[in-house]
Amino acid sequence: MSFRIDIFTIFPDLVEAMASASVIGRARADGRLDVRVHDLRMAAAGRHRSVDDAPFGGGAGMVMMPQPLFDAVEAVEPPRPLCYLSPAGRRFDQAMADELASGEGFSMLCGRYEGVDERVCQHLVDAEVSVGDVVLSGGEVAAGVVLEAVARCVPGVLSNEASTAEESFAEGLLEYPHYTRPAAFRGWPVPEVLLSGDHNRVARWRRAQSLARTFERRPDLIEARGGLSDEERELLIEHGLDADTPQVQRSGG
Ligand code: SAH
Repeated sequence: MSFRIDIFTIFPDLVEAMASASVIGRARADGRLDVRVHDLRMAAAGRHRSVDDAPFGGGAGMVMMPQPLFDAVEAVEPPRPLCYLSPAGRRFDQAMADELASGEGFSMLCGRYEGVDERVCQHLVDAEVSVGDVVLSGGEVAAGVVLEAVARCVPGVLSNEASTAEESFAEGLLEYPHYTRPAAFRGWPVPEVLLSGDHNRVARWRRAQSLARTFERRPDLIEARGGLSDEERELLIEHGLDADTPQVQRSGG
């Protein structure tokens, strides 16, 4: 069965481009993802197919009219929840991506101009989702963020199932640092343990790095999981990392 994602936009080419490359493009070709991009202008009336009008009450900018948005969505009856991308929405994170991926599909509505008529928020969409405390000019790139994050959580989309389980946020921690060839680059060596061939030592080093890096960069994540356990503190100390104010190990100058 294919996981379906419908996206409503006035820039279908922009969304189609994001949904055609790499992981998502392959999953669509294999039939594991069914991504459908809908042009909101197709549902707009008049020769110019306008989707926006001036705001009641005055002020700068234009507002997306309810009629074309309701018509477009009702003609398609897309999978729910239908999420409106909006800076006023609930902040998108890995937990929300997992949650969306656990169903059979979902949909997204991309705003432009000053956003959509409030009746769209109240009576057409199921949720409002923000990709961060920034204002974008349109919802398309935000929809791309949600699409990429959710798609890789859908079973079968990533060839290597194990890779999502180990990644940043999987366990409430940031991921450990990665290295590849050469073993020394411009005089900066790869940590010796990674060349040791000792899988147990490598696993312990990675876990220590992951803990230390999260403690240093995102203390809020450590706090959210109830601080460090005694065993985790020991692991950090064992790796020469301060368990009170740990520093991420750097590979030289
Ligand atoms: N006037 C609005 C901003 C409109 S930006 C306000 O001040 O809140 C135009 C469109 O870009 C929005 O309708 C929304 O779809 C999208 N957008 C902007 N910032 C976003 C964000 N942080 N997350 C998700 N979508 C966003």
